[in-house]
Amino acid sequence: MNATIENLESNVRSYCRSFPATFARAEGAHLYDAAGRSWLDLFAGAGALNYGHNEPHLRDALVGYLQSGAPTHTLDLTTEAKVAFLDTLDKVILAPRDLRYRVVFPGPTGTNAVEAALKLARKVTGRTNVVAFTNGFHGMTLGALALTGNGGKRAGAGVPLGHVTRVPFDGYLGDGVDTLDYLAAMLADPSSGVDAPAAFVVETIQAEGGVNVARRQWLQRLQRLARAAGALLIVDDIQVGCGRTGPFFSFEEAGLSPDIVCLSKSLSGYGIPLSVVLVKPQLDAFEPGEHNGTFRGHNLAFVTATAALERYWRDASLSRAVVARSAQARARLEALADAHGGEVRGRGLILGLDLREAGAGNAVSAEAFERGLIIETAGAHDEVVKLLPPLTITERELALGLDILDAAVAKARTRRPARAGHRKAVAAPATQEVRS
Ligand SMILES: *Cc1c(COP(=O)(O)O)cnc(C)c1O
Repeated sequence: MNATIENLESNVRSYCRSFPATFARAEGAHLYDAAGRSWLDLFAGAGALNYGHNEPHLRDALVGYLQSGAPTHTLDLTTEAKVAFLDTLDKVILAPRDLRYRVVFPGPTGTNAVEAALKLARKVTGRTNVVAFTNGFHGMTLGALALTGNGGKRAGAGVPLGHVTRVPFDGYLGDGVDTLDYLAAMLADPSSGVDAPAAFVVETIQAEGGVNVARRQWLQRLQRLARAAGALLIVDDIQVGCGRTGPFFSFEEAGLSPDIVCLSKSLSGYGIPLSVVLVKPQLDAFEPGEHNGTFRGHNLAFVTATAALERYWRDASLSRAVVARSAQARARLEALADAHGGEVRGRGLILGLDLREAGAGNAVSAEAFERGLIIETAGAHDEVVKLLPPLTITERELALGLDILDAAVAKARTRRPARAGHRKAVAAPATQEVRS
């Protein structure tokens, strides 16, 4: 651990504790320290680097823009960079999918997008309550945190987190239970005690929550329930959008038509903060300036986002690569699950190996880091190892990463023998490591 960081950066620092190196260079799926030690990055900025580190086409576009004398910061003034981004988003992503959305620029981060979506849903419906799901993750500011399940994160709020009805996510009560039976009954009963919701906010695959995949039928029924209740369907596609599951939006597979979509992490494609809230035109109800901010869209991010859409989304080759790499990784993870006890979940290039023991993911992640691999954990008890490689990772790189993971799991499991059990029944460890 770097002494300056230890002395000067707040105790709140997080990822740098799990991956204690000082990084000096990055390229594609690799990070390097100044001494030239390298790590294969299967975390990819928590999904902010779907095209890898320093993708050369995006970098060239960015450097060209910087050297051209075009404006960097312009509030929400019209610039050529902004016009090009909106035109490209429409031509390359929205129009071919027959999606018609207006674009709200909510501020640079994911949690900014969630806050804007919540404000808009409450304004449009005149309702306060919102439905959110167990193990959901939506960000750290108060509105988004109220939607988030994680107890440790919620505890930091300092004020009551309210106006949310919590509902079990798909699979939460085991395979035999459709958790939407519960939601449907509550909404149908005027005396259930659940106030009419402005919106349902859902991740199609809960990323931080443990790589929990909602089934297609469950999502379709959720959309029908939202419509019947007069609530808006908000899909938080911040982590699993931008191609992570194969198609550009994670909800395409289920054929959903969300009223509002939140995008962030990999939208700029280069790790530059950029978020949008996509809203159906009839819901575009903010007054001019009603939701304002200094960094609502940023020209440097527009430039790399436009380049990313042009480079990777004009045809289906990236989506096909995601499917191929997913099959490659899944086969190896299934073998690991068979050998060590566990379960594989996920779709596309978000895959989780649930080791069904609290803290097991941390042990694997630490062993992997020693061996030159960056890989994160997920789940309520850090029991899941989460694979989130750049979508552009090569077959060879991924094979190498899986070899290292194999060795790390074997080592970690000899130190902490496997226990059987359902994932909802994992025991909390006596001392939980502090992990994000
Ligand atoms: C990361 C994330 C957020 C929050 O984004 P920030 O940029 O960290 O504020 C919200 N929702 C989901 C699903 C995320 O993965």
